[in-house]
Amino acid sequence: MTHERDVAIEAVRTASFLCRAVRASFSDALTTEKPDKSPVTVADLGAQVIVSLALAKAFPTDPVMGEEDASQVRDDPSGTIGSALQEHLVRFRPGLDGAAIEGALGRCTSAGGPRGRWWTLDPVDGTKGFLRGGQYAVALALVDDGEVVLGVLGCPNLERADGNIGSLFVAERGRGAWELPLDGDAAAGVAITVASITDPADARYAESLEAAHSAQDESGRIAAQLGVTTPPLRLDSQAKYGLVARGDASIYLRIPRGGYIENVWDHAAGAIVVTEAGGIVSDVDGQPLDFTVGRRLARNRGIIAAPAAIHAAVVGAAHSVMGARVG
Ligand code: AMP
Ligand code: MG
Repeated sequence: MTHERDVAIEAVRTASFLCRAVRASFSDALTTEKPDKSPVTVADLGAQVIVSLALAKAFPTDPVMGEEDASQVRDDPSGTIGSALQEHLVRFRPGLDGAAIEGALGRCTSAGGPRGRWWTLDPVDGTKGFLRGGQYAVALALVDDGEVVLGVLGCPNLERADGNIGSLFVAERGRGAWELPLDGDAAAGVAITVASITDPADARYAESLEAAHSAQDESGRIAAQLGVTTPPLRLDSQAKYGLVARGDASIYLRIPRGGYIENVWDHAAGAIVVTEAGGIVSDVDGQPLDFTVGRRLARNRGIIAAPAAIHAAVVGAAHSVMGARVG
């Protein structure tokens, strides 16, 4: 797994630097909309190209499940997105042409499934955070026979304990979780663990900044039920999993609205980072996340991530606030 880990770290690092470069030169022309009206930027597409190329080179037969596809470039009549994308990408991958870019975007269509190994990538998780100058993450995970075995989360805007900006979280199954400086030496990584609290009342929980992505009123009631008095940390992206894994937040609550089903790439990398740091990640019913059923977590609803010592109490509070799952 060392080779997989090293390739994943290098790919996520480079993709994170591309995101920063796009952010630094940002203009409206670099944003377009997906059919569901959610924003997609040159950073999302560029980060997917960087990671897709790295995986194709190192592991040519491994399928990749990426959030983006080539349609945003192909279907843009003005060609603005494609040319901006190429302009940013050639700084990191000199000579890359339009066909190679479309090819790299287009090979990330895997539907996953229960058998074999495949990668899952959210090239920019928390695009709204990226746009507002907040938190976002480049999230890459390797799934093998339905289990997440490796996760790498690049968080270009996240502050580390030493006050510097830019974190990289890495976890391998059975080997623990680590936080590295995004910009620096891999040897400077530190092992991280979840908060050591045993009383859920001492918890601080993290949740989405976007109220549409998680029912903040219900999480407030769950927290109240647990006796939590500290206000929540609200931030975009899987950086929330990073905060739980290093103990800055103790719980991540994601309470679905309107029967929303989560995407695999929004959780695979973050979940193993928390699990390997000593946490438990489940859905709001306490069920393990089932990564075997395609591109979405169709057998789960919402997310509860917490230290093992308090996870059952959080699930119990969620049950009393939300009721049992119907169907
Ligand atoms: P966050 O930054 O934690 O708010 O989550 C960002 C992710 O939320 C995006 O990558 C989307 O895939 C996902 N998302 C989009 N719509 C919803 C929704 N209605 N409920 C929950 N998550 C959503
Ligand atoms: Mg996402």
